[in-house]
Amino acid sequence: MEKKNLFGLTLAELENELADLPKFRAKQIANWMYQRGAISFEDMTDLSKNLRADLMQRYEILTPQLVKKLVSKDNLTTKFLLAFADGAAVEVVLMRHDYGNSICISTQVGCAMGCKFCASTLNGLQRNLTAGEMLGEIIFVQNFLREENQKVDTLVIMGTGEPLTNFDNLLKMLKLLHESYTLNFSYRKITISTCGIVPAIKKLIAEKIPVTLSISLHAPNNKLRSALMPINSAFPLNEVLKSGEEYALETGRRVTYEYILIGGVNDTEEHARQLAKILSGQLCNVNLIPINPVDERNFQPPTHNATQKFFHFLNTHNINATVRKEFGAGINAACGQLRNQNLKKSKD
Ligand code: SAH
Repeated sequence: MEKKNLFGLTLAELENELADLPKFRAKQIANWMYQRGAISFEDMTDLSKNLRADLMQRYEILTPQLVKKLVSKDNLTTKFLLAFADGAAVEVVLMRHDYGNSICISTQVGCAMGCKFCASTLNGLQRNLTAGEMLGEIIFVQNFLREENQKVDTLVIMGTGEPLTNFDNLLKMLKLLHESYTLNFSYRKITISTCGIVPAIKKLIAEKIPVTLSISLHAPNNKLRSALMPINSAFPLNEVLKSGEEYALETGRRVTYEYILIGGVNDTEEHARQLAKILSGQLCNVNLIPINPVDERNFQPPTHNATQKFFHFLNTHNINATVRKEFGAGINAACGQLRNQNLKKSKD
């Protein structure tokens, strides 16, 4: 008989599943899996041997396995390649900032969006991650940090995949992560990054959970945006901007627009002028990201001068902009790069 996986179930689901046991057992098992780092029933030392053996017969606890870990020279970035039960692997990045530990998780294995500058989408979409798998990424790092008496402080959902095309699983994971029997994680410490799936942004607004929304813009007009991001043909720039504005109005939270700077492609003063114009009056920040060149893609980073000029232009035209501090370039921390290397290796 196939064993049922308990990892990723809510407390109510666990109680239902374990209805033949006293009710407090479900809570106890949830605490072990979600708060105390248990990855097997063996670890649950306050359950009797008999109960553990019985649970092991019927159930399993599926948590991701570490395939590879890379640490940057300055020790500030750690990248984990984690594999799930079917062998599919995703990347999780831990960044140690002065304001705490931030992690970046993946929501899909591969990605269907086809953005021209991105490594995650080179092999297309393999599958969605379940809520339990996404939670597993976070708990994995939490367990890793516990050894140093630290914890995950902020979460960015900005790894491989388009989170808003895996909406239901994402929402289930966010709600689970917020529960007092898991990490009790504040929604305000979570950022979701999207390429602009407009109907799903509206669904997210309706959920009324105070997460930060980050929208990948990367171009200030439809022609260039469609050339870089095929999704723009389905949800064009003006609709994306309108949904961002609505998000800010409804939630009172500033939207971040991400703008990768690509040398000679979208980094001129004219682009900055257009960007300032389309964002004028919005409650937003612009995060400028000098592109992390990907082997398979022929894009160059912007010059330092072009980056500074772009940054300066926005800030002197009433747009709050920052340039992203680079983390972990030496360890292929750009989305999808480590997983691709691993895929290539296994094909060789
Ligand atoms: N699909 C979501 C989240 C994953 S991508 C989204 O599009 O936002 C996370 C961020 O990394 C996006 O802003 C994406 O455009 C950016 N990104 C992708 N490839 C990159 C590269 N080569 N260099 C720098 N940033 C990149």
